[in-house]
Amino acid sequence: MTTLIVGGGWSGLAAAIACVQRGEPVHLIESAKQLGGRARNVSWNGHIIDNGQHLMIGAYDRMLAMMMSIGVDTDSVFQRQAMDIVIYDTEYPALKLSSKSFLPWPLSLAWNLASSAGLSGLKQVAILQSSIENTLKSKDISVSEWLLSKKQSKRLIKQLWEPLCLATLNTPIKEASAHLLAIVLRDSLGKGKPAADLLIPRQPLGDLFPRIAAKYIQQHGSKVSLATRVKSLIVEQQKVTGLVLGDGTQIEANTIIVATNLSKSNQLLSSYIHYHLPAEYPICTVYLQYGAETRLAAPMLGMSGTISQWIFDRSEQTPGLMAVVISAPGEHEKMAKEALISLVCKEIHQLFPAMPEQVEQGFVIREKRATFACTVGIEQQRPQHQTDIAGLWLAGDYVANNYPATLEGAIRNGENCAKLMVADLK
Ligand SMILES: Cc1cc2nc3c(=O)[nH]c(=O)nc-3n(C[C@H](O)[C@H](O)[C@H](O)COP(=O)(O)OP(=O)(O)OC[C@H]3O[C@@H](n4cnc5c(N)ncnc54)[C@H](O)[C@@H]3O)c2cc1C
Repeated sequence: MTTLIVGGGWSGLAAAIACVQRGEPVHLIESAKQLGGRARNVSWNGHIIDNGQHLMIGAYDRMLAMMMSIGVDTDSVFQRQAMDIVIYDTEYPALKLSSKSFLPWPLSLAWNLASSAGLSGLKQVAILQSSIENTLKSKDISVSEWLLSKKQSKRLIKQLWEPLCLATLNTPIKEASAHLLAIVLRDSLGKGKPAADLLIPRQPLGDLFPRIAAKYIQQHGSKVSLATRVKSLIVEQQKVTGLVLGDGTQIEANTIIVATNLSKSNQLLSSYIHYHLPAEYPICTVYLQYGAETRLAAPMLGMSGTISQWIFDRSEQTPGLMAVVISAPGEHEKMAKEALISLVCKEIHQLFPAMPEQVEQGFVIREKRATFACTVGIEQQRPQHQTDIAGLWLAGDYVANNYPATLEGAIRNGENCAKLMVADLK
C-alpha cells in the first residue's frame, strides 16, 4: 500500500524523494495551493519573492546532497561566497566576522575580528569557542548565562552574540539553549572555510527545491496533491489505518509520515502521542524596493541597536530590492505595517548613509510561526521519528536532531525518517 506523506514543506518533500529513491511509492498531501511551506514563493509587485529571507551555509551538507540527487546544479543556483559578516551598531564601530582577507582560514577570521573588536575581543571569542565541547558535556543553560560565564564583554554580547543567536536560533539569548548555539558555532565556524561559506540563493525559494522536487517525485511514479487538507488520522488498536481529508474523503494506508509544522502536528497527533515542545516564534521580513540602481555594500549586512537585524541585497533577482529580517518576538510585532516600513527605512539610512532616505515601495511579511523556540533543554523535548503508533512516523524540522529550525534540519529529518521507515517496512 502507498505510503502517505502529510505536508509538502522541505521536510515532507525530502521524505518523499528518499522514499521513491528506495523504491517506495508515496502520495504527498499538501493543504496549501503550493509546495514549500515555510520556504516558499510569494508574488509581490509583479515579482516572485520569498515568504521570508533565508540564508543557507556550506555546512548544509544534506540539503546540498538532496538537491544534487534530483538534478539541481547547486553551483549555479547558489552564489557561494566566503563568510563575510559585518555588523553595524548604533554606538560601537562595525564588527567583522569575515574570512575575506589575504590570510588563510581561520587566520583571516581572527585577523578581521582583531582589527574590528581589538585583541581583547578576539581573545574573548577564542575563550567562548574553546569552551564549546565542555558546554556540550554539561547541563544545558541559557545563551546569556553561557556568555556571562565566559566573560564576554557588553559589546560582544550586543553586537555579535545576540545577532548570531537571533539569526540562527530565532530565540532571545535569555531563553535560548547554549547547547544548540554551541553546536551551530562548532558546525559552521569550527569546521573550516567551506562549512562557513554563505550560500545565497539566486532563485526564489519555491523554484530552488520544491518545484523540482515535485517533478522528480511525479516522474518516479508517485503522486502529489495540492490544496488538500488532512483533517485527521485514523488509528485503530495502536495502528494507523488511514486518514480523513477536509472534504471527508478517507484514504487507507498502513504507513503515514506526518511532516507538518509543530502546531499542526500537535493538532493532528494530540489524541495519540504526547510530547511537549515550546512555543513557535515569529520572523518578520520587510521588503524595501529602492530605485533599480541602489545596491548595498555587501550581499548582507548585520545591524544591532536597531529593530532591524539583517539586511540582504536581493538585486540579483530584483534590482534595488532589499530584504530586512527581524527575528524572534519583539516590539515590532505591535507596529502597523506602514510605521514599521518607515522605521526600518530610517534605521538603514542612519547606519548606511549611502542608502536612500526614502523607499519606493515596502512590503511586510510576518511569519508568526516561523520556527520552534530553541529554549534551554529543548533537545530532550523533541520527539523521535518513530512513534508508539504502528505505521505512524514523524518528519519536520522540530523532530529530534542537533539543529535548530533550519532547511538543513528539515531535509535531514525528512530523509532520516524515510530511511528508517523503509528499513522497517522491509
Ligand atoms: C521567515 C522565515 C525565515 C527563515 N530563515 C531561515 C534561514 O535563513 N535558514 C534556514 O535554514 N531556515 C530558515 N527558516 C526555517 C525554515 O524555513 C524551516 O525550518 C523549514 O522550512 C521547515 O520545513 P518543514 O518541512 O519542516 O515544515 P513546513 O515548511 O512548515 O512544512 C509543513 C507543510 O505542511 C503543510 N500542512 C500543515 N498542515 C497540513 C494538513 N493538515 N494537511 C496537509 N498539509 C498540511 C503546510 O502547509 C506546510 O506546507 C526560516 C523560516 C521562516 C518562516
